[in-house]
Amino acid sequence: MTTHKLLLLPGDGIGTEVMAEVKRLIDWFTAQGIASFETEQDLVGGASYDAHRIAITDEAMVLAHKSDAVIFGAVGGPKWDDVPYELRPEAGLLRLRKDLRLFANLRPAVCYPALAESSSLKREIVEGLDIMIVRELTGGVYFGEPKTITDLGNGQKRAIDTQVYDTYEIERIARVAFDLARKRNNKVTSMEKRNVMKSGVLWHEVVTQVHQRDYKDVTLEHQLADSGGMNLVKWPKQFDVIVTDNLFGDMLSDIAAMLTGSLGMLPSASLGEVDVKTGKRKAMYEPVHGSAPDIAGQGMANPLAMIASFGMALRYSLERGDLADQVDQAIAAVLAKGLRTADLKSDGATIVSTSQMGEAVLTELQTLMG
Ligand code: NAD
Repeated sequence: MTTHKLLLLPGDGIGTEVMAEVKRLIDWFTAQGIASFETEQDLVGGASYDAHRIAITDEAMVLAHKSDAVIFGAVGGPKWDDVPYELRPEAGLLRLRKDLRLFANLRPAVCYPALAESSSLKREIVEGLDIMIVRELTGGVYFGEPKTITDLGNGQKRAIDTQVYDTYEIERIARVAFDLARKRNNKVTSMEKRNVMKSGVLWHEVVTQVHQRDYKDVTLEHQLADSGGMNLVKWPKQFDVIVTDNLFGDMLSDIAAMLTGSLGMLPSASLGEVDVKTGKRKAMYEPVHGSAPDIAGQGMANPLAMIASFGMALRYSLERGDLADQVDQAIAAVLAKGLRTADLKSDGATIVSTSQMGEAVLTELQTLMG
């Protein structure tokens, strides 16, 4: 049996609480001989700053490079508000993304039937929703140069951000989207603003070429990012995989996220290039939420986003889609039974703590796999 190397970085606040529930699953899979994991754990964020005066150490980065997947909790909190900018907790997360060259951010938006009522949209629009937003993460306007504010000397200032994309950056993110679509419902919608942006013209051209060359079996459609945003709230079930740039992806993935209810339900993955020698890619899996200082230490955090992030690691890094399916089914079953952490509370639901929710997922897994 392959042994999977995992680096666990719980981080700060509820990060440590929700990571404990992932460990519960890892320990069970291992004890049952269902999968074999070699796990290392290290500090990141404020916890690392307190111990080492840096948001992530070089030693932790070495472990990250050696792992098959990094499982990341959350960082930050008011305790570190006055820490120098380059040492702040988020710097640990940014270094991981940068050094592991994680260029593709995957954000699924899945609406479990039991949670359809928690959405701001009508049940029939969101129930059973299952879409994946693939956002380019390392290029575009957030990183393009020049990026300046210039004093014009006449009482005015000029701010410049630059949207830059090269062909190879669009090609590789398009490939991630097409490959994912092949494992899902075989459709990709590419979103840009080619009507007003040159980068949109190139994006459209390159995605079309990659499709023509290598992915003719996948359905490709193009939408302008603004009308794509409208369609996301009007009839989101028309989408399977959406691929878009860094800026539009930032916004569209947050919109899609809210279709499904709570922040505590949202997993994510960030993927790097495939290594030609090993066939593996660097990857990090993390819930979308932060360290939630307002509820940290109270056993109230919803661990499902963290558990579902681990499920994505099983699927996309560890070749254990079979186990990922079971984890997803266990989550759906627990919700269907009416168990809810406080962030999801609804009429008639049973409110449970972080560890009770983790335990309930494990019990469902035991039933499913027993
Ligand atoms: P947050 O996501 O931590 O919390 C926003 C709200 O959602 C809070 O009311 C919180 O209680 C609730 N919430 C979040 N996750 C939850 C969960 N799993 N279960 C139940 N409720 C949950 O965002 P914030 O309050 O803006 O930021 C708090 C800290 O986290 C800040 O220091 C911020 O910089 C950091 N942050 C880190 C990450 C990350 O590590 N990736 C992401 C976002 C924010």
